[in-house]
Amino acid sequence: MSRRYDHARVQEYWQQAWEREGVFECPTDADDPTYVLGMFPYTSGSLHMGHIRNYAITDAYARYRRMAGDDVLHPMGWDAFGLPAENAAYERNTDPESWTRTCIDQMKADLREMGFGYDWSRETTTCDPEYYQWNQWLFTQFYDEGLVDYGAATVNWCPDCETVLADAQVDTPPEADDGETTAGTGHSHTHGGVCWRCGTGVEQRDLDQWFFAITDYAEELYHGLDDLEGWPDGVRDSQRNWIGRQEGARVSFPVAHDDHDTVEAFTTRLDTVYGATYLALSPGHDLARALAESDEAVAEYVESVANTDDAGMSGVETDLTATHPYTGEELPVYVAAYVLDDVGTGAVMGVPAHNEQDHAFADEHDLPVEQAVEPVDGSGTDLPHAPYTGDGMLTDSGEYDGLASSAARERLCQHDAAEAAVTYRLRDWLISRQRYWGTPIPIVHCDDCGHVPVPEDDLPVELPDYVQTTGNPLDAAEEWKQTTCPDCGADAVRETDTMDTFVDSSWYFLRYLSPHFKSAPFDQHTADEWLPVDVYVGGEEHAVLHLLYIRFFTRALSDIGLLDREEPVDRLINQGTVLHGGEKMSKSKGNDIAPHEYGAETTRLFVLSAAHPSQDFEWTVKDVSTAYDFQQTLYRLVTEYTDRTETRTESADHDAYLEREIDRTIAAVTEEYDRFRFHRVIGEIQRFARLLGRYAGYDRPYQFAYGRGLRVLAGLVAPIAPFLAEEMWQLLDEDGLVAESRWPEPLRDVDDYRIERQVVRRTLDDVREITAVVDIDEPNEIELVVAADWKYRAYEIARESDPDDAIVGEIMADDEIKQHGDAAADFADRLADRGAGLEPIIDGERELDTLQQAAWLFEDEFGCDVVVRRAAPDDDLAAKARPNKPAIHIS
Ligand SMILES: [Zn+2]
Ligand SMILES: [Zn+2]
Repeated sequence: MSRRYDHARVQEYWQQAWEREGVFECPTDADDPTYVLGMFPYTSGSLHMGHIRNYAITDAYARYRRMAGDDVLHPMGWDAFGLPAENAAYERNTDPESWTRTCIDQMKADLREMGFGYDWSRETTTCDPEYYQWNQWLFTQFYDEGLVDYGAATVNWCPDCETVLADAQVDTPPEADDGETTAGTGHSHTHGGVCWRCGTGVEQRDLDQWFFAITDYAEELYHGLDDLEGWPDGVRDSQRNWIGRQEGARVSFPVAHDDHDTVEAFTTRLDTVYGATYLALSPGHDLARALAESDEAVAEYVESVANTDDAGMSGVETDLTATHPYTGEELPVYVAAYVLDDVGTGAVMGVPAHNEQDHAFADEHDLPVEQAVEPVDGSGTDLPHAPYTGDGMLTDSGEYDGLASSAARERLCQHDAAEAAVTYRLRDWLISRQRYWGTPIPIVHCDDCGHVPVPEDDLPVELPDYVQTTGNPLDAAEEWKQTTCPDCGADAVRETDTMDTFVDSSWYFLRYLSPHFKSAPFDQHTADEWLPVDVYVGGEEHAVLHLLYIRFFTRALSDIGLLDREEPVDRLINQGTVLHGGEKMSKSKGNDIAPHEYGAETTRLFVLSAAHPSQDFEWTVKDVSTAYDFQQTLYRLVTEYTDRTETRTESADHDAYLEREIDRTIAAVTEEYDRFRFHRVIGEIQRFARLLGRYAGYDRPYQFAYGRGLRVLAGLVAPIAPFLAEEMWQLLDEDGLVAESRWPEPLRDVDDYRIERQVVRRTLDDVREITAVVDIDEPNEIELVVAADWKYRAYEIARESDPDDAIVGEIMADDEIKQHGDAAADFADRLADRGAGLEPIIDGERELDTLQQAAWLFEDEFGCDVVVRRAAPDDDLAAKARPNKPAIHIS
């Protein structure tokens, strides 16, 4: 009778068994459990292949660490607020909450079917008032700490989604050329972008908005990256670029205006200051606004560029002039849209000779181009037709002539008009959203008191019932909006903006630690013990949003005194993409594959076996069927053993090889799990399964060794194919659950297991080569002769010596080696030639053991007797044998 393994038949049984035993629950009194976390899913309705890959990685690692004896925290929750739920509800004529709850039920069932083991007692859902009350509480804490700002801001507005977008939610349209920022000179980077959700062109609008002052942490967040050694370099680089730290100088240009004495311009190129021929203000600069009040041309210009993202190199000259602080010359002052309000100081000194944008602006407005730096290599420039933007030597720069750019930047900075300054590209985090399905911002607007935070006792401010409107549903909820001022008791109105959902996900990993904690978002004592997250797995697309926000929150909470830690995550893994037809799977492209289409456990196994977690790979039906066959092979090994295999109770010589290979496989697999190389785990297990099959076919298996081999097989595969492993475990009549069993351990020292394997493999290869070369079809006997001991001594002396030492002399100084005369001298010469390239070896006794254990493999493959022996004195073969490379004689 042949039995097949069928995941669908057994999954419910084992899920219930795991739940009954509480396998995945992390005890609250655990002492710093291993915290394994996958980015929680957005509640879109179903799991896609990216989720499966993400969660297969965390689940495999969590299960492995649990079996290895750790307490493990592996929680799951739902990123449940957000605009897509509103859109989906609108399309289906329901409300966002009902839609979201339906999605959660479906996705939870999907996760269960996949066999992912979570501590559901810690389940966290961001749209529950029990959760979002803490968003509000944290908002008020941040407010008290001065980390919340409210103000009119020119914001990115998606006319289709009818909401504000953060900079990071504005994508570059595919056809646009590089939207490169030049933060140092204060130039734009979001103009011309499209909405990340719907692809609609983004407009600029002025609105009163709430911000988190993440820029207060720019310096810390930037420098903190240096210490995040467990993070991929790519993510760290992305964050560095996003924060955009630039060193330079702030230069004061005196102006004659009633309300302004000077204009401050930030530059990274103070060495070019003698080339400044004009000053340019952003349209939102205080002085530009002031000038607009009395200057019609300026007013018109500011108005005309307010709602365009394509102002190009336009600008308007003002009546004002600025005094160049180094030369005393009067420079014209422009208002120009290419200068951004909120980068640098919102004003730039225009140096057409040495800056691309300034040169383009000067072209447009017929401004002089004055060189201040020349290349030192004499290569010359195309000035005035094209700017020279490199460093060089100063020219036409008064007393600074002849200085190199870097030295000049320092010297020029000693001038009274300049001071060293650092700017960041990072801007404050705009958290206001004019949508319903999010956390209400806990603020009351009072005519007398201004905006007043809702007191802690009145939290949460719960969402009103949903009504369908084209605008902001909270704005339409009149009854909900009307309230009284917490300060003076007068009639007041609630803030109707909700929070960006990235606020929800900025601290959810803390809620898991104490999910039912009543007096704060999390229990600080537990957090200080259990953080950081040991392993965090998720998509690279979160590099500058979520992964920056969790760092900001952690640092802010630390400063408020709610946490000890400053960084939330120790090790970060960005899983690669699952491709189909060379492209990322997506519903809209029609190339997606539902996780259950080929069977849940097969899919899970396949996504782990295909590649290293961080690499992309292609979905192919062939590889999926390989994953399916792998399960059947393992299952069959066990069923054949339990159904019908006759076993031996007396051990034979060749059993030792299996016993040793069990140890070696445990060692190899454990190493690969530690390094998250699940594809190699599966490769090792496949090899081991083949060996078990071959062993059982060679002779009746020795019950003790073979039974152990199958138990180990079930244990090693349990983290990646958990249902299958439980079935195997049960068939083998083992107690309890494999998920709760102890991680397999080698019976003997395995330090040198790789060398042992290599000796066997190379010797097999050598025998194959010899039989092929001399064309021996049916050898009578294979003789393997392990080298004499003195050669191992000589080898070790050579290996430990310095490359500069007289190696031959050192070897020949050994009395025992010296006895072997010419043979010893020849061997010492060969070792000296190889010098530093000597690999570690196992000693002669271990080599003899290893080959004797493996003799049956030779016998099985070549169909003849095999003799393995140690070299005898005056033995012809002995002369050819070298450490870990036995002499081979085939007759
Ligand atoms: Zn949109
Ligand atoms: Zn009031």
